[in-house]
Amino acid sequence: MKRVAIIGGGIAGLSAAYYLEKMRRNGADLQWVLLEKSARLGGVIATEQHDGFVLEAGPDSFLSIKPDGARLCQELGLGDQLISSNDAGRKTYILVKNRLVPIPQGLEFMVPTRIWPMATTPLFSFATKLRMATEWFTSGNKNAADESVGSFVRRHFGQEMVDRVAEPLLAGVYGGDVENLSVHAVLPRFAEMERESGSLVRATLQAKARARSSAKPGIKSPPLFTSLKNGMQQMVDALISALPKSSIRMQQQNVIVRAAVDDWQVESSGSTEKFQAVILAVPAPSAAALLLEVHPGLTKGLSRIEYTSSAAVALAYTQADLPEGHGFLVPRSEGRKMMACTFVHKKFPHRTPGDAKLLRCFFSSSRIPELLTYSEDDLEKIARKELREILGLASEPLFGRSFRWDRAMAQYETGHLERVAEMERIITGTPGLHIIGNSFHGIGVPDCIKSARLAVEQITSGVSQPAPV
Ligand SMILES: Cc1cc2nc3c(=O)[nH]c(=O)nc-3n(C[C@H](O)[C@H](O)[C@H](O)COP(=O)(O)OP(=O)(O)OC[C@H]3O[C@@H](n4cnc5c(N)ncnc54)[C@H](O)[C@@H]3O)c2cc1C
Repeated sequence: MKRVAIIGGGIAGLSAAYYLEKMRRNGADLQWVLLEKSARLGGVIATEQHDGFVLEAGPDSFLSIKPDGARLCQELGLGDQLISSNDAGRKTYILVKNRLVPIPQGLEFMVPTRIWPMATTPLFSFATKLRMATEWFTSGNKNAADESVGSFVRRHFGQEMVDRVAEPLLAGVYGGDVENLSVHAVLPRFAEMERESGSLVRATLQAKARARSSAKPGIKSPPLFTSLKNGMQQMVDALISALPKSSIRMQQQNVIVRAAVDDWQVESSGSTEKFQAVILAVPAPSAAALLLEVHPGLTKGLSRIEYTSSAAVALAYTQADLPEGHGFLVPRSEGRKMMACTFVHKKFPHRTPGDAKLLRCFFSSSRIPELLTYSEDDLEKIARKELREILGLASEPLFGRSFRWDRAMAQYETGHLERVAEMERIITGTPGLHIIGNSFHGIGVPDCIKSARLAVEQITSGVSQPAPV
């Protein structure tokens, strides 16, 4: 029998447990145990219900184009609980000199695809608009080495596009700095477009034309984001319900992993057990610490992956005079602490009672290094002050709630993919070791689920199964 230890009970660890359990119930000769450090499962996924308001402490949704998220929800019987982002009402603003300027239609991330909205938007100066027009003539760059997203966007569209679009958009996703994030790891599609075509504008327009000509009539494109009616916690709860309680051990503060001759020894709560495979489903710094005695090279590589801390402040209002749309992004150059604010009641249905409004403000240690020294009250005060200055929102909220996460957002810095390839070479040469979660190939919820699914496929490929009848 193959025994598997899963260390970490966030979405990655729980998904690994789910896929292993599914194989076990189907007759695979295996057994698994999940060891979680804290007193709760789900990691950064946590939802609070408050008088009809759905408050997300961590992720509020996942990208629909990445299939692993919705597929797992379907398998868990949550198909009828899936909700789509309200893309028809999607309008996002960028704060420019304390004024909210809508992102013009046809700007696809940072690539302009329509002339008139670009020509008329106050988001860009005349010099940047001219730069966008001439980007069409850029030629291919087959051997482009990795570089920062900031440098990549600057080469194509100039500094203003970095400051006003790339920086706030990526800060909203990674809580990080565009001057450090790797273009190969974070924007692989754009890096590929540059290699193939040179011009991102030309490549994007060609891709859109291809998509239009191959579109099947009557088939709607998926929504940008998918979530669950009562919040992302539903996914965690469904996973927990699908797993035997006896295989999950909570509050395992001092897990120690050792490589033995033919197997792995995992020590926790004073006892040592043998396993044939170990899945580390923890953030890279924790994985680095766990592997200290196993492989110093891996520990070094994992320690090189930086994480930023983040905070989300939810503010609920009965009445609030807000602009149309889903919210706004705040460029670093505006000198504010807040990075983004989502108008939750507009982005998703079912998240607020009646006509009430729910705002979710996002902060990161990449902008406020001392972020975690702020109390929940301090964060709420900062959010309310900045909302007053940006939106003129002075009314008293019904309630506020702040959530803080210590080093939870992985930063894929320049050279990330080369370092990951080196670590994966070491892992391949260390039988039974698997690292899943947000350290290597994507920080989104579906990426973490996919990493768990692939690890389980690898682990179970050699496990004996009952013969088909
Ligand atoms: C504020 C915020 C907003 C986000 N928004 C989105 C979003 O909207 N959409 C999206 O797709 N993604 C989003 N993400 C990213 C995504 O949520 C995470 O990357 C993903 O949930 C990470 O899951 P995980 O299981 O890999 O790690 P985690 O959730 O960090 O779980 C790791 C678990 O391991 C445990 N652990 C750590 N060390 C040990 C140890 N030594 N022994 C035992 N247990 C240990 C921890 O206690 C924790 O339970 C967001 C992240 C944050 C922080």
